[in-house]
Amino acid sequence: MFCWLSRLYRSLSRPTRRTTQLIGGSFSRSLVLSSQRRIPELSSFVARTNTCGELRSSHLGQEVTLCGWIQYRRQNIFLVLRDFHGLVQVIIPQDESAASVKKILCEAPMESVVQVSGTVISRPPGQENPKMPTGEIEIKVKTAKLLNSCKKLPFEIKDFVKKTEALRLQYRYLDLRGVQMQYNLRLRSQMVMKMREYLCNLHGFVDIETPTLFKRTPGGAKEFVIPSREPGKFYSLPQSPQQFKQLLMVGGLDRYFQVARCYRDEGSRPDRQPEFTQIDIEMSFVEQTGIQSLIEGLLQYSWPSDKDPVVVPFPSMTFAEALASYGTDKPDTRFGMKIVDISDMFRNTEVGFLQDALSKPQGTIKAICIPEGEKYLKRKDIESIRKFAADHFNQEVLPIFLKTNNNWNSPVAKFIMEEQGLGLIRLLETQEEDVVLLTAGEHKKACSLLGKLRLECADLLEARGVVLRDPALFSFLWVVDFPLFFPKEENPKELETAHHPFTAPHPSDIHHLYTEPQKVRSQHYDLVLNGSEIGGGSIRIHDAELQHYILATVLKEDVKLLSHLLQALDYGAPPHGGIAIGLDRLMCLVTGAPSIRDVIAFPKSFQGHDLMSNAPDSIPPEELKPYHIQVSWPTDSETEKSSLNHPCHPES
Ligand code: ASP
Repeated sequence: MFCWLSRLYRSLSRPTRRTTQLIGGSFSRSLVLSSQRRIPELSSFVARTNTCGELRSSHLGQEVTLCGWIQYRRQNIFLVLRDFHGLVQVIIPQDESAASVKKILCEAPMESVVQVSGTVISRPPGQENPKMPTGEIEIKVKTAKLLNSCKKLPFEIKDFVKKTEALRLQYRYLDLRGVQMQYNLRLRSQMVMKMREYLCNLHGFVDIETPTLFKRTPGGAKEFVIPSREPGKFYSLPQSPQQFKQLLMVGGLDRYFQVARCYRDEGSRPDRQPEFTQIDIEMSFVEQTGIQSLIEGLLQYSWPSDKDPVVVPFPSMTFAEALASYGTDKPDTRFGMKIVDISDMFRNTEVGFLQDALSKPQGTIKAICIPEGEKYLKRKDIESIRKFAADHFNQEVLPIFLKTNNNWNSPVAKFIMEEQGLGLIRLLETQEEDVVLLTAGEHKKACSLLGKLRLECADLLEARGVVLRDPALFSFLWVVDFPLFFPKEENPKELETAHHPFTAPHPSDIHHLYTEPQKVRSQHYDLVLNGSEIGGGSIRIHDAELQHYILATVLKEDVKLLSHLLQALDYGAPPHGGIAIGLDRLMCLVTGAPSIRDVIAFPKSFQGHDLMSNAPDSIPPEELKPYHIQVSWPTDSETEKSSLNHPCHPES
């Protein structure tokens, strides 16, 4: 059950080929030595000689002291003791002389913490347990100490026992005792360690802490506000160390990294937390390809050895291609079902809504092909797909069922001419029993809709047993050449940054900046893994004048708020660029966890609450006084309105 731990530690002691290849000269000796570390000493400095999970036949006859939690007891004869490393069977002594030991071990409730000392003996023949790594041995106990007794638990400490997430979060310290949480957090620590090793020891990065109390800055995500004792003055928690890391470049710390805590006061989403961790990186004198190679090497080096190795370089796709083929800037490239533009084939169509769409300037017709959709999609699935398209995109979707005899079975089938049908088969590479979903409209809208339906249908097919995405596959992808600005959703005449306002324009588009800024591509790159954005960064603007122009003229931001940065750029700022990897999301994908909360020791609930301590909590008015602030309590109707806007989510 706990054999993952030995794998984890074995991977530590194995020098990787890359380590020895990358380093040279006098530095190499100490690095090679450090990568040949022994398995860590798990029982140094503490009151045990061994961990419960490590004992084997090779320990027979040894006198050991173990500390752990009582997992099971059988017939007052056997007791199974657990620690993070595994389980071990302890024999409760039955003879009169050991009555006090027997009393302790028989009376202590489950999950009490005990210390036992005794001899490692082999189990009687036939009683070995091959399913247990320690199943060949048991401990003949001589002494026992009850270190702490356990009250009745809110749930059993066994991964297979189902419990709600809210209960898990309320008793997180108990939830952490489970095998899966132990694995997730220990693997996370291992990977971060390897990342530090790669960045600092192999590539000379400097780990620098940046402030958590900062000030409000324009652009980007909404920040948490912290009151100060100066009337009307507030700190903000940084949404990332972006400005500090750029200022470090100006300061000549030309290879910076930090395992950085970031804060964003944004609505909850399954893969978001109000506070989260980034592997934050910045380098001077670097171009996009340099950052990309660094990250590919970093992931390859820190990748768990029990997973398929990371293959580099990662493929790359432009933003325009990602949108056109996958309807999103974070394509899941583990499976096909790509969006295909079939506008040309339908130029002479008689179908009204297709004609209509094509007569508009941005009008297109697009389709995706669902493999074996006819077999796996039910009528109600098709109905809910069409309803989703109508409700969320105000778009029509036409399903076309392709029969073996090439008859098109759809409301518009009779209007689809034979050559159009054959064209669809050719362009979409359809086979019998496939279903084609077709939509018409403006390029971005049609692609976004089909991108959503592509994922939706993939989930549906997988729920019905089709294997589309290999769970062992890690499909990395760089998405590049983003637009520098997007039109604002609420006012498309105004522009906002696609990444953040410090991102440099693409050198070949810079001439558009002063006339048609919406046409400028940027030097922004995102790293996508299995359809999730796990990182993003850019080459930065290091010219104060250009930065001022973008902030003030294009983005209409208050430049005074960033005067420190603009000033710094004028004092010999080197060209620089960087990236941040979302550690929580990365770990979630690596461990296959259902949510990022499963790779964070003490996460917040879906509504941003700490269910264990009840944060955020109220503060008495007198404690607010030094901050010169007062609570303006919402009226009943405001409370009601806000609960309507945020329909009741289960707390988790
Ligand atoms: N600070 C950026 C972010 O948090 C990453 C970067 O541009 O390096 O998304």
